[in-house]
Amino acid sequence: MSACIFCRIVDGDIPAKIALEDEQALAFEDTNAQAPVHILVIPKRHITSVDDCRESDQALLSHLLLTCSKVARIKNLAESGYRIVTNIGADGGQTVPHLHFHVLGGRHMAWPPG
Ligand code: AMP
Ligand code: ZN
Repeated sequence: MSACIFCRIVDGDIPAKIALEDEQALAFEDTNAQAPVHILVIPKRHITSVDDCRESDQALLSHLLLTCSKVARIKNLAESGYRIVTNIGADGGQTVPHLHFHVLGGRHMAWPPG
């Protein structure tokens, strides 16, 4: 069994509220939502972060971003706007070392982030 919680969600060992799924990507609700809509978009294959990506991951990375925009459309965020965030490593605030994009919306987002 994988030690990575997001790999375990992909494997179906940990339940998640799935918003969207295809061969390469999974989108599910964040259990500690920071906005009315807070979905995580992850690759099904384990990659630690954007910093772990290689040239050969180009297509996967663009697929994940397009999946974020699909999720935003499904959640009716496209018109009002939304934010896509990916945290990398300790200073980036990453707590789960499996690449994920946060899709946040349904409220106004402040800038700069904390
Ligand atoms: P980050 O801090 O950028 O690594 O984001 C990790 C996110 O994963 C946090 O927003 C957590 O609330 C979320 N999270 C952790 N465990 C789970 C889980 N089992 N299901 C859904 N979201 C989770
Ligand atoms: Zn993983």
